[in-house]
Amino acid sequence: MHIVVCIKQVPETRNVEVCPETGVLLRDGVDSIMNPFDLYALEAALRLKEQYGGTVSVISMGPPQAQTVIREAYQMGADRGYLLSDRAFAGADTLATSYTLAQGIEKLDAYDVILCGLQTTDGDTAQVGPGIAEVLGIPHESNVSRVLGATADGLQVISDLGTMVYTKSIKFPCLVTLTKGVGEPRLLSFKLKQSTRDWPITTWSAADLDSAAQDFFGLSGSPTQVERIFPPTVSDSFETWEGSGLELSHKLVQKLQELRLVEGVERAQN
Ligand SMILES: Cc1cc2nc3c(=O)[nH]c(=O)nc-3n(C[C@H](O)[C@H](O)[C@H](O)COP(=O)(O)OP(=O)(O)OC[C@H]3O[C@@H](n4cnc5c(N)ncnc54)[C@H](O)[C@@H]3O)c2cc1C
Repeated sequence: MHIVVCIKQVPETRNVEVCPETGVLLRDGVDSIMNPFDLYALEAALRLKEQYGGTVSVISMGPPQAQTVIREAYQMGADRGYLLSDRAFAGADTLATSYTLAQGIEKLDAYDVILCGLQTTDGDTAQVGPGIAEVLGIPHESNVSRVLGATADGLQVISDLGTMVYTKSIKFPCLVTLTKGVGEPRLLSFKLKQSTRDWPITTWSAADLDSAAQDFFGLSGSPTQVERIFPPTVSDSFETWEGSGLELSHKLVQKLQELRLVEGVERAQN
């Protein structure tokens, strides 16, 4: 089985601050880590490899320093690493990111399954996994909390949508996005750190990808532009209300209407 895992390098969010004047993330001195959900996707891939045999390839789009997360993937047990890195990829929205990753994946050996994290801790859209599947024209399943097993044809998975949990079979080649339910990611192995130290990381630039695809990379391929990033205002003001349960519920409805959070709620009859 050839399993491809998409991994992204993200800022260590506990330390990230936004410049109040410019709204830009202050990245100086902020450590980068592998996106936490991607650790779970990688763990699921390694468990599939252990159970059924095969190869785990990891792929990332990002600046040259994203090689660090690929090295970490080697230290967890991944076999091959690919980095898509070019200034032409900068400013990509989720559409361009999905497109670029799909172009890279198409250059790999034929794959059975692509695993992604559910979402990232920086962009946080959860759109890239399904986006890659749409570009490649393969079935996908989101919010997978457990991979039950594989057959010759595909995977059996459990998806947890919060209000509904269901079991589903999905045919190869396919893509799934994983939640933290799939199992605790293993620690980096010191032994693997030593033995994979010289392993190559295949790096592709825009020129290495399909020439017909060039207009769809980076900023020029991105219809979405973020105008402003700002932290939500946190208010510690509060009101205390007293009264019977009915009075308090009327008061609550009135308040929600004042704040324009609900409309058209009829006053309950006494
Ligand atoms: C400072 C800043 C500015 C931004 N400006 C814009 C903008 O102007 N317009 C806009 O639309 N968006 C902007 N973004 C968001 C950016 O487009 C997204 O970070 C990017 O497209 C990936 O989406 P996501 O992080 O929401 O991934 P998600 O969809 O949440 O990720 C899901 C999964 O997809 C995979 N994945 C995602 N990205 C990668 C990757 N690069 N390499 C490998 N795997 C990956 C991982 O498995 C991940 O767990 C900005 C983000 C930042 C931090």
